[in-house]
Amino acid sequence: MKILFAGAGALGSRLGYMLFKNNEDVTFIDSWEEHVENIKNKGLKVIIDDKDLGNYYIPTYRPDQVNGKFDVVFVATKSMQLRPMLEQVKHLFHEDTKIICILNGLGHVQTLKDYIKEENILIGVTVWTSGLGGPGVLNAHGTGKIELKQVKEVNLEKTLELVSRLNNSGLNIKYSNDTFQSIWHKAGLNCVLNTYCTLIDCNINQYGSFDKNLELTRAVLNEVTAVGKAEGIDVKQDVIEKNIKNLFPLETAGAHYPSLYQDMKNGRLTEIDYLNGEVSRLGKIHNIPTPVCDIITLMIHSKEFINGNK
Ligand code: NAD
Repeated sequence: MKILFAGAGALGSRLGYMLFKNNEDVTFIDSWEEHVENIKNKGLKVIIDDKDLGNYYIPTYRPDQVNGKFDVVFVATKSMQLRPMLEQVKHLFHEDTKIICILNGLGHVQTLKDYIKEENILIGVTVWTSGLGGPGVLNAHGTGKIELKQVKEVNLEKTLELVSRLNNSGLNIKYSNDTFQSIWHKAGLNCVLNTYCTLIDCNINQYGSFDKNLELTRAVLNEVTAVGKAEGIDVKQDVIEKNIKNLFPLETAGAHYPSLYQDMKNGRLTEIDYLNGEVSRLGKIHNIPTPVCDIITLMIHSKEFINGNK
């Protein structure tokens, strides 16, 4: 089984390393020249929970250097890079290639459907976390899990076999019919914490310490919940509010600055169009006003613009 990671950044290289270490046939594609060269020449340096686990010579290429067909493709770019990546790798799919997409945010199935049959799309959500300590260096902590669903359940037994095989490498995937609800619950949390921490310039604990944080949270979640329900998803606002609150203490994730905050600080474009921006877009389709998400999306874009982020 040939497995491709289309994007071998923080998340891709962590999951790819786990599969490679368990003797799966893994190939990485990435456009970051220095990252590709370092992995080629020195191997991917793997540091997990502050332990150096050695260097792994995972075959790694730029997109234009790869040929052949792959059976499983993990897309692991940022949300706004998904379509350009799919354009670059679509010739590597065969009739039955399965694409696994566990990017954060909303709206990815629509994009994937332009490239592959619905029955070959496995959409999901993950709480694995990961980081890079420079080009060619994976630096991650903790463990995680993935929730996954085949968008159109045809030959489900084959998908379940794949899940079981991937789990032999410790990916900890649960096949679940509640996956879309979980995607919306995670997106709802990100629509609140990623954006407000960025705009207020604070970590999650500081956000939670403001006595009126629930007002801010609900201003966003009322819209997320209404739009999600209009999309046919049973979004449970009380669950998202509880999940957010659980992250406030310093012992959980309070000291953390969300990924959108870090992208903004590091001069990169953010995933806002796949969070609050997507809620606004879907709201228009369903005739549901989303003034808070509209303004937050514009504010994040204005900050990207003023910072000169690319
Ligand atoms: P990342 O920026 O570290 O990795 C993306 C990689 O894709 C980069 O190395 C980039 O060079 C490469 N890339 C982008 N476009 C490309 C193209 N056209 N051709 C080739 N390579 C290309 O991002 P990440 O942190 O791994 O996040 C990926 C997704 O997973 C995001 O949606 C993120 O929100 C989500 N996610 C990340 C984590 C985490 O802890 N890092 C956890 C859960 C979910």
